Amino acid sequence: QRKPLVVANWKMNGDQCLAHQVSDSLAALSGSLPDILICPPVIFLPNFPKHPHYSLGAQNLSEQAAGAFTGEISAVMLAQAGASHVIVGHSERRTLFGETNQQVTKKVEQALDAGLKPILCIGETASQRSEEKTFQVLAEQLDAVYSAQPQWLEASVVAYEPLWAIGTGNTATPEQAQQVHAFIRQHLTQYSADAAAALRILYGGSVNAGNSEALFAQADVDGALIGGASLNAAEFAAICLSA
Ligand code: 13P
Repeated sequence: QRKPLVVANWKMNGDQCLAHQVSDSLAALSGSLPDILICPPVIFLPNFPKHPHYSLGAQNLSEQAAGAFTGEISAVMLAQAGASHVIVGHSERRTLFGETNQQVTKKVEQALDAGLKPILCIGETASQRSEEKTFQVLAEQLDAVYSAQPQWLEASVVAYEPLWAIGTGNTATPEQAQQVHAFIRQHLTQYSADAAAALRILYGGSVNAGNSEALFAQADVDGALIGGASLNAAEFAAICLSA
């Protein structure tokens, strides 16, 4: 039985005030809660209010361990700043900053070495979907990491974020999400049936308080990675309660 995981990805948004609003609204929740993770801009990590209802993560990390890499932040530094997880290979990193599968793999390695759990983001573009290449693209993204870092599978989370659904209001239907999540789990079963069965696969892309429950009801949807809706403290708390 996989415990749901709901992740807030603030991207380059938010401030200390939002940190307190989100913390207060999550602290006020009761009942059975999912695992909750907040990934604010890294500058807010050290002073982010702490509460047992949630943990903290980062949105990116350096593919290097240390050295003359101006502006970069290492996995060890993120762990010291309070992160337990780190998002790796978000589509914005891949498309806007040119991150390749090879770099994503190195980042996964750095995260694992520092004891951070990677949240590996994968997803297809609209044109790849219309050309029926979705499964092929996702398999390539998964296999690039697995082939270099097989230990990744036991220690990670996967987030399926179709690019056509991110920030568009055009969420995948629950059936579309389930079909892809089942494919991801099935694909990874060839490497380890136990690890694939235990792996949490999150959906991301225009999740909000109105559509989260139907997504979470799908057998292979184990939570969500939330962008825009995570910037509203009350809405994010409502999404967490629906998991
Ligand atoms: P939105 O929820 O704003 O579509 O963003 C999804 C996302 O990219 C989360 O990582």
